[in-house]
Amino acid sequence: MPDFDSVLHPDFLIPMVPERQILKAHSVALRDGRIAAILPREDARLMMAVEHIDLPDCALMPGLINAHCHASMSLFRGYADDLPLASWLQQYIWPSETQFISPDFIRDGSELAIADLILGGTTTLIDQYFFPEMTAEAVDRSGLRALLTFPVIDVETAWARDAESCINNGLALRDRYRDHDRIDVGFGPHSTYMVSEQTLSRVAVLADELDAPIQIHLHETREEVLGSVERTGMRPIDHLEQLGLLGPRTQCVHMTALGDQDIETIATQGAHVVHCPKSNLKLGSGICPAQRLLDQGINVALGTDGAASNNRLNMLNELQTASLLGKTAHGDPRALDAWTTLEMATLGGARAMGQQDRLGSIEVGKDADMIALDLSGVHHQPHYNLASSIVYANSGSEVAWSWIAGKAVVRSGQLCTLDLAELRERAAAWSAKITDFRATLEHSKHAN
Ligand SMILES: [Zn+2]
Repeated sequence: MPDFDSVLHPDFLIPMVPERQILKAHSVALRDGRIAAILPREDARLMMAVEHIDLPDCALMPGLINAHCHASMSLFRGYADDLPLASWLQQYIWPSETQFISPDFIRDGSELAIADLILGGTTTLIDQYFFPEMTAEAVDRSGLRALLTFPVIDVETAWARDAESCINNGLALRDRYRDHDRIDVGFGPHSTYMVSEQTLSRVAVLADELDAPIQIHLHETREEVLGSVERTGMRPIDHLEQLGLLGPRTQCVHMTALGDQDIETIATQGAHVVHCPKSNLKLGSGICPAQRLLDQGINVALGTDGAASNNRLNMLNELQTASLLGKTAHGDPRALDAWTTLEMATLGGARAMGQQDRLGSIEVGKDADMIALDLSGVHHQPHYNLASSIVYANSGSEVAWSWIAGKAVVRSGQLCTLDLAELRERAAAWSAKITDFRATLEHSKHAN
């Protein structure tokens, strides 16, 4: 009877705990989906295991946690680029969602996204989109880990009649996956401008009763903040606090246009911030002052947002952008250094989910969610500092292996759980339909 399921032998091990440490000639042993031992290479070689995996030139690190996404919007990748948020949403995204959102669209879009996510280093996804039942099935099949925050909005969609049916559908989904090892379900009220006060208060009460996570778009743009002040007399963050929806279970996504008082409120309430630098840059939304938030003790996670506003779902790319943007935003090259962004994408995401005891680092007893990055490319030579190499020199294609709950979902660069040729075919079929629809939208715009 072997002692372990697999023993991994990377050239470098980046456990994230202890902080800023790189171990050489160390191996990691997995058993029953968990990290069972971390030990010197020569001892690990002697262990009985189903499989010993050599990872030459590889850095083994915790899997990345993509803390904000709308996975199935990957079918809208590149569909309406170079537009400001309001016209992007009102003229293109919302009409197209009304036209196309269906269980089939969500299944195909989720699977396309998941392939991109896993190959870009994501092992845990926090998602928010319609028909989360279909995304849950895709997550289950693909071997990914996910927190699905079901959408709560007041207007009717193909998925739900109104806010109450959003909540009923979402809670049914939560029940269905209660005992699932890799899937959690939380609340995803879209924003304070898309959800009524009454609904937001109801979500606050339910999330409290169920001890469930909440994710909300907040302070995405300056216009959103000004609109809220005009409508309610309050900034969105204060409005959320007043409704009882701001606390240690709340993940506030975007958080640009922040004043000192806003930052103090987040810190006092113990809420989490999810920074989506590429989406904010692409939509010209503003900049989240991530380093200032961290300096105030606020937990900051990292997310890609949907492919329609990024256009990748690649967390290695996102690390790079977060670091570079942080330095400019802060006017200081020391801001968001490589180790800090790596922590945001691992432990930061785990804390935002309330799962820091299970995820985010390579420690004995934690779930075996890990990636092995192949650093043999010329663009990584030489590497004086591995964290810098991973954050600043990555091409986004370094993921050679990925394990989620101890199961290899990428082996030697190949995704094991989804068929890429089939995903490409389905994406092409959707893009033909969506292109025709865009032509009718543009035609009617010109006719007006
Ligand atoms: Zn979003």
